[in-house]
Amino acid sequence: MTDRAADLRNFKAAAIARLGAKYVLSGSDAEAFEHDFWKQNCGRAACIVEPTTREDVQFLVKLAAQYSISIVPQGGNTGLVNGGIPDATGQQVLLSLKRMNQIRAVDPAGDYIIVEAGAILAQVQKAAEDADRYFPLGLGAEGSCTIGGNIATNAGGITVLRYGMMRDLVLGLEVVLPNGEVLDLMRSLRKDNTGYDLRHIFIGSEGTLGIVTAAILKLVAPPRERVTIWVTVSTPAHAVELFRYLRGEFGDLISSFELISSYGVEAACTHLPGVRRPVDQPAPWHVLMEISWSFREGLRARAEGVLEDLFEKNLIGDGTIAENEAQRQMMWRIREGQSEATSKIGAIVRNDVTVPIASIPELVDRVMSWTPEFGQDVVCLPFGHIGDGNLHMNFVVSRDRFQDLEYRLLEKLYSDVDQLSGSISAEHGVGRMKREAIAKRKAGMRLELMHKLKSVIDPDGRFNPGVVIDPKFEK
Ligand SMILES: Cc1cc2nc3c(=O)[nH]c(=O)nc-3n(C[C@H](O)[C@H](O)[C@H](O)COP(=O)(O)OP(=O)(O)OC[C@H]3O[C@@H](n4cnc5c(N)ncnc54)[C@H](O)[C@@H]3O)c2cc1C
Repeated sequence: MTDRAADLRNFKAAAIARLGAKYVLSGSDAEAFEHDFWKQNCGRAACIVEPTTREDVQFLVKLAAQYSISIVPQGGNTGLVNGGIPDATGQQVLLSLKRMNQIRAVDPAGDYIIVEAGAILAQVQKAAEDADRYFPLGLGAEGSCTIGGNIATNAGGITVLRYGMMRDLVLGLEVVLPNGEVLDLMRSLRKDNTGYDLRHIFIGSEGTLGIVTAAILKLVAPPRERVTIWVTVSTPAHAVELFRYLRGEFGDLISSFELISSYGVEAACTHLPGVRRPVDQPAPWHVLMEISWSFREGLRARAEGVLEDLFEKNLIGDGTIAENEAQRQMMWRIREGQSEATSKIGAIVRNDVTVPIASIPELVDRVMSWTPEFGQDVVCLPFGHIGDGNLHMNFVVSRDRFQDLEYRLLEKLYSDVDQLSGSISAEHGVGRMKREAIAKRKAGMRLELMHKLKSVIDPDGRFNPGVVIDPKFEK
């Protein structure tokens, strides 16, 4: 047996002694943790460890340091850039936070909730709701993703427009560092200007600097009346114009403003059971928006008035308001089910880009005009949170051409995004998927400082090595 194999075996034995054999997994028990959400990429871990306390995490981190083993933290494994799965060496330990899932306290007066990192986002939303408060992060994976993962990826979602990204919702943080020490930033303060704000180094660091074990999150007043509106427009430029107009009417009451193409809506109606188009006729583009406030009534009547104005001003083609929760859910099913529905048609080249809102029409026009160069079997499928500038310019391609086309399509898309002063990762992060593309774009001082930060906090490079930054891709 090599020294390395002995190290891994000793690590495993000590982990079993601490956690019990049930919580140190390998072989077929480990498989569910080793592949990504879409089951397109798969790594292999030395073992999976499942701690229940911060002290367990500290113990495991120190143990891994003793044997020079690197650690990949994982929450709900819904990340879309392969940052939470191990590499293929079989030498990394995957540390799952899923069992650290307690809601420790809700303070409705202070408007905050204290949670462990493995708490599922939907569970946190529910705990806030039970206290007549609202935790304003919502995304398609909310039934599986964890707060630790949301923090590590600085998750966004469908209400960023009004409430911001995860970074805007974290008041306090507890982090286990690569040396096993705890960085205790667990304060519920709204104001604390006492030097560098260390929380922000860890938010969005994708498990490369520390393991988040607990957090204090901001709550807000619950939206007691919510109006969900579906309208059609002729072009993305009209959608942006509509957004500008409605901001004037509703201001910050708009929490979501989503664009969906005709192709995407028809795919959802064809391939998702029970889904129907909310308006009678097909249309080139659809907008799903939601407005809400804390009063119990009055908003719907205002929305109906505004909808009439929109018809009169020719700002929309058709439009309807959800009559009940079932209709609202169906509208959101069309939006959230875009990837699921179109994956029945072909393979999906996914992306998550952002440009200034005013540049959205140009981005869509550019990309849709060059897409046919790649063949008649390639369809561009734009959809996303255009209220905050974030679009998924996905491509549906024949399954047998996916390997050939993915890199080329993304490079061409990213080049347009660069020219429009955008970013190639709006909310999913970098993980292993976008390292090379990010290295090209963050060259110079920005990349240099990221490496310096990493080497100060994790000098041995044992936390999620090869994720976010990797010298291999830097020239
Ligand atoms: C259907 C679907 C819809 C989605 N919609 C959105 C969306 O609208 N907006 C959005 O932002 N994302 C979206 N995502 C992506 C994903 O849900 C988010 O990135 C989410 O925040 C990941 O949380 P997780 O617990 O699953 O993290 P994981 O996938 O387990 O991990 C993600 C990253 O965080 C690190 N990590 C996890 N837990 C910790 C921890 N406790 N400490 C330190 N590092 C940790 C991992 O190492 C990895 O790098 C979607 C995903 C799916 C499948």
